[in-house]
Amino acid sequence: MIQTKGYATQDKEAKFKPFAFERRDVGPHDILIDIVYAGICHSDIHQARAEWEPMVPSIYPMVPGHEIVGRVSQVGGEVTRFAVGDIAGIGCFVDSCRQCPACTGGIEQYCVKGSAQTYNSTEMDRVTPTYGGYSKQYVVDEKYALKVMAQGDLSGIAPLLCAGITTYSPLKRWGVGPGKKVAVAGLGGLGHMGVKLAVAMGAEVTVLSTSPSKEPDARELGATGFVNVRDEEAVKAAAGSFDFLLDTISANHDYNVYLSLLGLNGVMVIVGVPTEPAMLNAFSLIGGNKVLAGSLIGGIPETQEMLDFCADHNIVSDVEIITPDRIEEAYDRTVRSDVRYRFVIDMANA
Ligand code: NAP
Ligand code: ZN
Ligand code: ZN
Repeated sequence: MIQTKGYATQDKEAKFKPFAFERRDVGPHDILIDIVYAGICHSDIHQARAEWEPMVPSIYPMVPGHEIVGRVSQVGGEVTRFAVGDIAGIGCFVDSCRQCPACTGGIEQYCVKGSAQTYNSTEMDRVTPTYGGYSKQYVVDEKYALKVMAQGDLSGIAPLLCAGITTYSPLKRWGVGPGKKVAVAGLGGLGHMGVKLAVAMGAEVTVLSTSPSKEPDARELGATGFVNVRDEEAVKAAAGSFDFLLDTISANHDYNVYLSLLGLNGVMVIVGVPTEPAMLNAFSLIGGNKVLAGSLIGGIPETQEMLDFCADHNIVSDVEIITPDRIEEAYDRTVRSDVRYRFVIDMANA
């Protein structure tokens, strides 16, 4: 076994302390990644604070982190896609059954047996706990690692492994492109990636936000519209405006209000995961022949496609780099919507 170190919380208070643990030895198909940066996704906060229980139990000690980028420092004998020195990424899952239609179809996140999550989960043996990216190293089967071609500053790449793919996948699936009017609800880690990606795909993008102070940033990111959703008049004025709405909101909110902003045949995709079930008025969908859908991250092939798309379009995440002693502060600020637009932990110097 490989001795390594990370930062773990022991309970839902989510206080992070140094934590020594073991990674498996590098097997024939594995690579060892020396982690350089790990992004802080709001899903880390939900799970560290046990906010998704009982749907998703929180397992402690928990080392969160599923937006991982680092350098390959060892490769197994059968590894073909990576060499020592390459830059590699890990997203939200590190294994799956490899046999079901979802796995063979490259949408491993929907593995019918349940994929092995990068942390707060177990390996496919259902026994060995998984620990995430707030750590110095990760051992992963090369099949579940992503190739990163960038060589310079990697901080803005890490968030692509979750925030990037989670927004790219539904934008692609629902045909966002030139001529489409797109709204992105919530300008946080996911939301700001959603804006950049939808703009790069050629859509006309509006941000729906509770933070009027973010309007200049939204426009800088390429949005041409901005609606303060706390302003009832502004929301009324925007009714029926959009073909597609990507909801990245982390807190409980009224879906009916957001559905009212869709035009005829409009589609709203939920990716944000609030902690409470929501009330849905049937009229919100029936009136305009609307679609309400969900989406979970993306599979390995599409995540690679997204990384390549971002490289081609010079897209990275806007990040604030922190040291691991500031994780709790970063959590509090993220919950207050005071993040521009992703906290990333410098693990190389930790
Ligand atoms: P984040 O950085 O905290 O961004 C969430 C944004 O939601 C905030 O910045 C804020 O934007 C907005 N917001 C907060 N409270 C609100 C409220 N009461 N009403 C309306 N808007 C509110 O979080 P994130 O990392 O982007 O993650 C967003 C959500 O997606 C989380 O629930 C996370 O667990 C989930 N997620 C899902 C997937 C998936 O595969 N489906 C993957 C990753 C994350 P404004 O300041 O602009 O209002
Ligand atoms: Zn995430
Ligand atoms: Zn499977």
